[in-house]
Amino acid sequence: MIVPEKAIRVANYSNVKKAKVAAIALTSSGQIIAFAHNKRISGNPKKFTQHAEEVLIQKLNKLRAFDRFKNIIILVIRINIFGLSMAKPCNKCQKLLQEYPANILYSGWDQQIYRLKSE
Ligand SMILES: [Zn+2]
Repeated sequence: MIVPEKAIRVANYSNVKKAKVAAIALTSSGQIIAFAHNKRISGNPKKFTQHAEEVLIQKLNKLRAFDRFKNIIILVIRINIFGLSMAKPCNKCQKLLQEYPANILYSGWDQQIYRLKSE
């Protein structure tokens, strides 16, 4: 799979300096449905990060995307100064993603795209 340019741009909007992550949802024909990046939430004594996958799922639910589209692809990428990096979803996000009928892909250390699960 070729990583859409849009995914790279979205990851660049992240305010998490050490891990700029984007999650992008596509139809099986490659049309972008929604996208999100991770964000650091300030104003909390323990600063925490909202993960891109969580934000994306919220957006997809708002759009009722899982009713409207079949075979949604969710691609999670992480970028650093060298390009793509490891973006395997954390356990919490993996659990969340398992609840939805989608093909989940993520970028690896070697800049290849890996499959977490398929529907
Ligand atoms: Zn996560």
